[in-house]
Amino acid sequence: MTYTSEESEGVVFEGALGPKKLTASYPTRSLEFLKKLYQSTLPRDVDEIAQLAECPLNIIIVGAGIGGLATAVALAQRGHDVTVFEQAPVLVEVGAGIQVPPNSTKLLRRWGVEPHVKDFVEPKAINFRRWENGAVIGHTQLIPDCRTAFGAPYYVVHRAHYQQALYDRALELGVNFRMNSRINTYDAARPSLTLEDGKEHVADVIIGADGINSNARKAVLGIKDKPPVLTGFAAYRATVNTSKMLADPDTRWLLENPGQNCWIGERQHAMTYVIAGGSTFNVVLSHSEESDPSSWEQETAIEDANRRFADWDPCLTKVIGMIETTLKWPLMSGQALDRWTSASGRMVILGDAAHAMLPYMSQGAAIAVEDAGCLATLLSLIRSTAELPAALEVFEKIRIPRANQMQEASAVNSKLWHFADGPEQKARDEAMRPEVEGRHFLQSPNQWSDPVTQAWCYGYDAEEEARKAWTQWSGRKIQ
Ligand SMILES: Cc1cc2nc3c(=O)[nH]c(=O)nc-3n(C[C@H](O)[C@H](O)[C@H](O)COP(=O)(O)OP(=O)(O)OC[C@H]3O[C@@H](n4cnc5c(N)ncnc54)[C@H](O)[C@@H]3O)c2cc1C
Repeated sequence: MTYTSEESEGVVFEGALGPKKLTASYPTRSLEFLKKLYQSTLPRDVDEIAQLAECPLNIIIVGAGIGGLATAVALAQRGHDVTVFEQAPVLVEVGAGIQVPPNSTKLLRRWGVEPHVKDFVEPKAINFRRWENGAVIGHTQLIPDCRTAFGAPYYVVHRAHYQQALYDRALELGVNFRMNSRINTYDAARPSLTLEDGKEHVADVIIGADGINSNARKAVLGIKDKPPVLTGFAAYRATVNTSKMLADPDTRWLLENPGQNCWIGERQHAMTYVIAGGSTFNVVLSHSEESDPSSWEQETAIEDANRRFADWDPCLTKVIGMIETTLKWPLMSGQALDRWTSASGRMVILGDAAHAMLPYMSQGAAIAVEDAGCLATLLSLIRSTAELPAALEVFEKIRIPRANQMQEASAVNSKLWHFADGPEQKARDEAMRPEVEGRHFLQSPNQWSDPVTQAWCYGYDAEEEARKAWTQWSGRKIQ
C-alpha cells in the first residue's frame, strides 16, 4: 500500500483494486494506526516545509508574547512579510514554568522551533496527589504515550526560554521586530495602527495578540467588547532552587525522576515540575480567592502561601517553605466572544486577547499556538486579498468553539480538583484508581488521562483542521 493523501478525513491507500479511502463518520481512533504507518513517508510531519502562501501578505502583529511570536513564525515560514510591534523594550514573561502539550509541540516541531529551545524537560508522567499525605490518586503516563498516541511530546520549559526560542526562530525567518512600540489606537477598517509617537502603520491584516488587557479586542469588537472577568481563583507563582531540594532527603525524590506532581484538595491545589534543564523547580499554588486584587499585599505573599498550605502533605509544605519570592496573581478568564474579527475582515485577535482561561488544563498558550497554526494556514491558502474576510471568518468559526471548550474544560478542573473530603472526592479518587494501579480504563475524572478528553485535547491538529475547513468553504482541492 502506498500513502497518497490525507487532506480529508480518513486514509487513502493503494489497495489491490486501486486507490481507496478508508473513512469513518463517527468518532473513532481505529484508523489512526494507518495514518501513523504512512506518516513516515509523509513530507508533512515534524520536518514539514509549510506550503508557501499563494498570496504573500504584509502582516502586522501586536504583541510578542507566546501567541504573537508563534503567529509570526507560522506566517513567516509561509513567506509572508511580518512585523511585530511590542510595547516592552525587551521580551518579558511573567512566571517561570509553562507546560507545552502535544497539540502545540506538534506545530512547534513543524515550524522548526524545537531546536531553538535549549532546555525542554520531558516529564515521564503527571501524578495527582492527595492533599494531606501526597498519596498518588491519579496518574497519566506522558512518556512514551504522548509521542506514540499523538505524534508529539509533552514538554515543560522555562517561559523565558520558550519565548526566546520563538523569537530566535522568527528572526531566522526574517520577521521584523519593533520593540518599545506601544500601540495607542487602531483603525480596524483600513486596517492601520498608530503608535504612541503618532506614527501610523498600514497592513493587509492586523493581528492583535496583545494579551488579556487587549486594546486590539476593543478595536475589533467596539461596544460589543466583553472584558475578561475574575474567576474567584488566585495563584502564588514561584520557583525553588533545586540545590536546596537536593540537599533535603524529603524533597530530593521530586527531582530524581522528572515528573509533574499536582496535590489537590479542598478549594486549592499545587502544580509543580522541574524546568530549566533541572536547575529550577516551578511551583504554582492555586486557591479560591474572592477578595479584590487591589487589596492584596504582595509583601506578605510568602507568609500567606505557607499558611494556606500549612496542614498539607509535609513534603509539599517543605517545598513551599523553600520559596524565597512569590507573586500573588489573579486568575482571569475571557468571556465567550461572538466575534474575533473586525467587520472589515482585516483585523483579528488571538491568544489571551481572545480567550484567556484558567490555567487548569495548562492550555492557554497551547491554544494560542493552535490559533497561530490555523490562521497562518488560512492566510496562506487565499489567492487574493479579496479572500481575506472569508479566511478570517473561517478562522473564527473554527477557533471560537475550540477555545470556548478549552475554557470550559479548565473551569471543570476547578471543580474536579477542589472537592472537600466527602462523597464526591471519594468517588473521584475511586474512579481514578484503575489508572494508578496500571489497570485498563475507559474513562477518568483526570482530564489528562481520560481517553476521549485526551484525543480531543492533544490529538487536535490546528493546521489540518484549517485545511479541511478551507477546502469545505472554497470547494478547492488543496495540494
Ligand atoms: C499561573 C498560570 C499558569 C499557566 N500555565 C500554562 C501552561 O502550563 N500551559 C499553557 O499553555 N498556558 C499556561 N498559561 C496561560 C498562558 O500563560 C497564556 O495563555 C499565554 O502566555 C498568553 O500569551 P499571549 O501571547 O496571548 O499573551 P501575553 O503573554 O500577555 O502577551 C501579550 C504581549 O502583548 C504586549 N502588548 C500588550 N499591549 C500592547 C500594546 N498596546 N502595544 C504593544 N504591545 C502590547 C505585551 O507587552 C505582551 O508582550 C498559564 C497562565 C497562568 C496565569
